[in-house]
Amino acid sequence: MSNFFNSKNVDDLNLIKKFNIDVSDIEVVSSKNLCLNHIEKALIIEKTLEAYEFAKINLKCGNITKRGFASNVCTNDGIWALGTNFNNTRNEISSVCGERSAILAAYNLSLLSYMQNANLNDCFDFKVKYICMSQALDLSKIEKATVPCEDCLSWFNTSRYFSNDTVVFSFERNNQKLCIKAVFLDEFLPYRNILTSNKFCSDKKIIYSVLAKKSADEKNIDNSMILNLVKLTYKSYLNNNLSALSNQNISCSIFANEKIYTLNKIDWTKRWFSEPLFACIFNATTENQDKTCVDAICYFGDEISKNDGAFNDGVVSIKGLGRIRQKYANDNTLLILNYNDNIFVTTIGEYLPMKFIQGYKI
Ligand SMILES: [Zn+2]
Repeated sequence: MSNFFNSKNVDDLNLIKKFNIDVSDIEVVSSKNLCLNHIEKALIIEKTLEAYEFAKINLKCGNITKRGFASNVCTNDGIWALGTNFNNTRNEISSVCGERSAILAAYNLSLLSYMQNANLNDCFDFKVKYICMSQALDLSKIEKATVPCEDCLSWFNTSRYFSNDTVVFSFERNNQKLCIKAVFLDEFLPYRNILTSNKFCSDKKIIYSVLAKKSADEKNIDNSMILNLVKLTYKSYLNNNLSALSNQNISCSIFANEKIYTLNKIDWTKRWFSEPLFACIFNATTENQDKTCVDAICYFGDEISKNDGAFNDGVVSIKGLGRIRQKYANDNTLLILNYNDNIFVTTIGEYLPMKFIQGYKI
């Protein structure tokens, strides 16, 4: 455990020395206003290098997918923790990315610190401030900044441990020079705090983003089709009795290969459920196989689950969108959201502007 502000001298930072990095020479590239002083910048570089070394050693020693990622996470309290990707099998159930691994490590350290030091009247407030990500790719070969996968973004989309000010750092090459790219969480997840409604009336105005309008025109999807999708999804939501355990009812429709598929969230137990988007896709792919093409997705449901307390768990599955964007859907696929005052049509590409590239075959 170390405090972010403990180190006051760049000369104390071993990896910057080892890699012979001149901190002044490394640009921090951000599309937002991010003010880091010299020592803070040096620490971010050092912590990203730590993640880089950790990713490399994990790739060499333990990682069965032969892809190495690691992260160094800093909490608002200045606790740092490293974590690397862990693949117990090559199936998703037992794979944890470096970012989530580091977040868990930081959480554990933060909780331990609280347990050992806290006045019981203090509230435990774990929030992630920085995530310094790295892949195991040689520094001289790094071109693009690393983008967290949509499973990790599903974690970041929640509000308890993350905020829009959480920043993700990773190395990138800019004009042939190594730099640090800084991306704020709301750049990955611009819809993060915008809640949909579970109320429906058919005279709500339909509003399109510019890109969604263009995509809808290309796909010959008009207002009546959008409204029809919302109505069918709403009807399915009303008739779904399969999500009583979580008290979070969600329905989803897709328009694929000129046909509408509508299905509901199913709770298996508390905490285990099946996503309606996947159910729709399974039906569509059963009929259309590799020719499956998803033109639009409509979600309707409860943002909040009431499972031993009320939690904002979200209606739209970022994990689900991430998977189907790899196949059968793309950035131009429409995403229809039922808001309080209108029905809003956006695209997957706008909802999740940065796409994770898998980069390996298994
Ligand atoms: Zn991930």
